[in-house]
Amino acid sequence: MTARSAPDRRLARRLRPRTKALPEHARQHNRSLVLQSLFQAGPSSRADLARETGLTRVTVSDLVSSLIDDGLVSELGAKPGTRVGKPATLVGLRHDAHQVLAVDISDADCFHGAVLDLAGTVLERRKLPVEGRTGTGAVELVERLCRDLVDASTRPLLGVGIATPGLVDADGVVLQAPNLGWSALPLAQLLDDALDLPVHVANDANTAALGEYTFGAAGEHGLMLIRVGKGVGAGLLLDGALLAGQHLAAGEIGHLVVDEDGEPCACGRRGCLETVLSVPALRRRTEGADEAVREAAVRAAGEALGVTLAPVVSALDLREVVLSGPADLLGGPLLDAALTVLRRRCMPVVGEDVELRLPAAGADVVLAGAAVLVLSGQLGVS
Ligand SMILES: [Zn+2]
Repeated sequence: MTARSAPDRRLARRLRPRTKALPEHARQHNRSLVLQSLFQAGPSSRADLARETGLTRVTVSDLVSSLIDDGLVSELGAKPGTRVGKPATLVGLRHDAHQVLAVDISDADCFHGAVLDLAGTVLERRKLPVEGRTGTGAVELVERLCRDLVDASTRPLLGVGIATPGLVDADGVVLQAPNLGWSALPLAQLLDDALDLPVHVANDANTAALGEYTFGAAGEHGLMLIRVGKGVGAGLLLDGALLAGQHLAAGEIGHLVVDEDGEPCACGRRGCLETVLSVPALRRRTEGADEAVREAAVRAAGEALGVTLAPVVSALDLREVVLSGPADLLGGPLLDAALTVLRRRCMPVVGEDVELRLPAAGADVVLAGAAVLVLSGQLGVS
């Protein structure tokens, strides 16, 4: 039954529910509260859940019963260390009873997909070469990859999460993704109809930010995740919600100009951050170069990133900035140079605390985030 509940695709709302809801939305919201508590804290007694969520014992018991009926939660036996009276029974999320499909179509060469359990563990992987497909051909390839993943799954599926390049609205419509030749494409609805599964679509940088938030080491004090690939984009999580912006372009830092006399950019201007920090730009400057030239090139890119980040980090008082992309290029000197410039340019109280690092969720951060799109949209957990 949970597998076909209506998708909630709104990511701009606060992700993790904290408090009791108004009566009209109460049951669904309270169910998410219980699931979120089990997702974060692990196995708990009904009394623990009541304490944690602020709900009454009766409400918690009722919700737990319905979650057991839905196959999402199971009883795990007596809670250890209970001294007097009837021992409390622990209940826990059944991470292996359902599966989620995650798809990353942000790589220009290859679409990647995976089957994950509810703990974010990758169980199966599939990929298909893009071979220059755009428009309808690219949509068909995504659908084929999804069908391969459905065939590879071994449990009931909660839904499909898709990370795409470009601007995506709250209904999973890709407003523009020039590299794929898509504009105003209702990708979530098309795939939802074709696969008969709830489908959630979001921009790849936003998706990666969700992956780091849920399965990485991110805290609750503001996260910016920068995706460095063919271009440069970022996802921003503030106060537990993804920032969208009025054009759905919040985090699009790739075309900020860092050097007005710099190299020409695909956007028609000169010296955008992408002209020094994108993977093609970094590879062009480092491949075949000797060590000193290589290090100077990645340091220069890191410094440009630090200059770009400082006003953003300062204005939003962010705690964590995560760089996602090829670790051989982004780690080491590039990261060091960016952090040095960032600290030098921020207000001291902000700069001293800010962290700049690679994703704790690892190279699978985008797929992990695509799984979070589904967990969040179908169960209200993240
Ligand atoms: Zn540009």
